[in-house]
Amino acid sequence: MHYGPLDATEAPPLRRPSRLVLVGHPVAHSLSPTFQNAALGAAGLGVRYEAVDVVPADLPAVLTEFRASRVAGNATVPHKAAVRSACDRLTASAHDVGAVNTFWCADDGALVGDNTDVAGAAAAIRVVAPAIAHGAPARVALLGAGGAAAALIAAVRAVSPQSTLAVWARGATRAAALAERFGDVVAVARTIDDALGAADLVVNATPRGLSPADELPCPIAAIPPSAAVLDLVYGPDETAWVRAARASGLPVHDGLVMLVEQGAAAFARWFGVEPDRASMWAAVRARTGRVPPAETARW
Ligand code: NAP
Repeated sequence: MHYGPLDATEAPPLRRPSRLVLVGHPVAHSLSPTFQNAALGAAGLGVRYEAVDVVPADLPAVLTEFRASRVAGNATVPHKAAVRSACDRLTASAHDVGAVNTFWCADDGALVGDNTDVAGAAAAIRVVAPAIAHGAPARVALLGAGGAAAALIAAVRAVSPQSTLAVWARGATRAAALAERFGDVVAVARTIDDALGAADLVVNATPRGLSPADELPCPIAAIPPSAAVLDLVYGPDETAWVRAARASGLPVHDGLVMLVEQGAAAFARWFGVEPDRASMWAAVRARTGRVPPAETARW
């Protein structure tokens, strides 16, 4: 494994990918093919993006085939950690988070892994908490301690290095692992109320809300009235938590901007050009009825 000089400035491969895939299990529900194919069509690149369901036992063989035929793409649940282990080089984001959601074959044949969930999370923070996105120090309450939580921490650290995060998770071991990975900026909260106490931004990085029957990640009444709320969960409809936060007058957004922006950042990695975001959002709107938050028009 080489943690090399790779960073956000690394040039994309000279030879473009032969094929773009999303590997996951399950994967059929994903919105990524919808907006990536819209961006590919707008750019006239003649490549298609397809979701490929890969069971974990088959991943090593599938990645070997991808290397041989210069396939690039995204990885999602449950493959982000395994793809990271298979990569020859990692960007700084992938190294920091410990997971890969975007990969490609470099010109020297190396499989390179990045984590564009970090860029996606930073974009979502710009929507709900622009002051934090512009560097204002803040206290962040982070519910959940998995891969999405790690990407959120890396994003907060990048946009607002003086901010601190209190992580609350039902299993203290994963929260402690995040605190160890990210050092002083992250503390493990003893209780959910300790995490929420004085928060300026409250983030749900658990899967609660994926099903309409789920309990809320936390009661809205427990969120400080001056806090902004970000739910990393996304779907065709906003979650009950997002709707309840908005009804209470809190600035709030779900995970849709993070999803689209991690995809836009991945596109820029594969091709060295920015995708046409208007096409991506038009495709999302056609499939789900969702429109981009007004804030994104000013970017
Ligand atoms: P993960 O690695 O499985 O971590 C999930 C975290 O939530 C873990 O701390 C887990 O605790 C906890 N958790 C699981 N079920 C819970 C429940 N019912 N109540 C309370 N805590 C629970 O998952 P992840 O990859 O971080 O993803 C988390 C969610 O973020 C996903 O479901 C997805 O909706 C969202 N996400 C969004 C984007 C985006 O682009 N918007 C990208 C990635 C993920 P245990 O360890 O005890 O299970």
